[in-house]
Amino acid sequence: MELAARANYVSSSITLAISAKAKEMKAQGIDVCSFSAGEPDFPTPKHICEAAKTAIDEGKTRYGAAAGELKLREAIAKKLRQDNHLPYEPENIIVTNGGKFSLYNLMQVLIDHGDEVIIPAPYWLSYPEMVKLADGIPVIVDTLAENNYKITVEELERAITPKTKLFVLNSPSNPTGMVYTPEEIRALAQVIVERDILVVSDEIYEKILYDDVEHLSIGSIDESIFARTIVSSGFAKSHSMTGWRVGYAAAPLEIVKAMTKIQSHSTSNVCTFAQYGAIAALEASQECVQEMLTAFAQRRSYMYQAINDIPQLSCPKPDGAFYLFVDISKTGKQSLAFCQELLETKQVAAIPGLAFGTDNCIRFSYATDLTTIKEGVRRLAEFVDQ
Ligand code: GLU
Repeated sequence: MELAARANYVSSSITLAISAKAKEMKAQGIDVCSFSAGEPDFPTPKHICEAAKTAIDEGKTRYGAAAGELKLREAIAKKLRQDNHLPYEPENIIVTNGGKFSLYNLMQVLIDHGDEVIIPAPYWLSYPEMVKLADGIPVIVDTLAENNYKITVEELERAITPKTKLFVLNSPSNPTGMVYTPEEIRALAQVIVERDILVVSDEIYEKILYDDVEHLSIGSIDESIFARTIVSSGFAKSHSMTGWRVGYAAAPLEIVKAMTKIQSHSTSNVCTFAQYGAIAALEASQECVQEMLTAFAQRRSYMYQAINDIPQLSCPKPDGAFYLFVDISKTGKQSLAFCQELLETKQVAAIPGLAFGTDNCIRFSYATDLTTIKEGVRRLAEFVDQ
């Protein structure tokens, strides 16, 4: 059968594939230590589940507005104003099927044939594919380990051409865990405004920050950058709601209206009662977020130290998210082979850096329990040593 060209040039998501494989091995009774998908291991907090159950009982089981329930869009706008100093109204919000669909939909709305989208590498693996699916050109800018894998102002400036439409900023970053400082964000914003391009700021990990690191939403700097910013976020990582598929974008009205049109012909509204869970997530106390953060912080300290104690491996200390991006150059292996052999011989699942555009590294998600982390690192040390 002849498939459309896009079905052939798009790759499948390696994060989802490897985590599915690890789950399948576990189901077969194999003792797998999985550090694959970035998926918090905590159950969704009870009050969020209860709110969704009540919504079902109240009959909130029908079609809703394509852009999302007004009550949720109001709660998101309030959160963005209070936490991020972003002056959005509910009309500027679209609730999407996970943060992922907000980004996919955005590319459909903004990108025409040949438009360029600047993506710093290492990047979350779906960004370039989404650009390609919109018939655009992902312009990958390799960042340096010595710059903590952050794009510099000079690198961004060099990558901009008359065809550049959009810059993808992800801080805290998946897969590196790096967080841009407020000064770095301000400097990038200046270039974006001067060169008159747009920025999508993927802030899905904004609540997962360690020590006294600060997250600055790029759109909050001033009116000119605000007008060029689209925020993408969701509830999966902060409130352990990965399977709920509730994310959102916040953007200038024209963009949200266009995204809503596309959504009305693709996914329609996000599951109605799931949106009521998200409302509870925003309106109730954020203590659950803090509790999970405390656990992530403990796991980060342990795993960061344990991995850097293995002579052939090294990684920078992450300031946010729940990933370690580990340099494997000294092992002489490439990332795909490394991960494949690690899974087959030691039953440890990690994601090859190749998927994120950086083949000399692999990614470990430490959104898993400390016992698994200790055993996984023990096996990893054995694997590297053999
Ligand atoms: N974003 C998470 C990750 O990078 C979940 C899987 C995915 O959607 O890629 O592991």
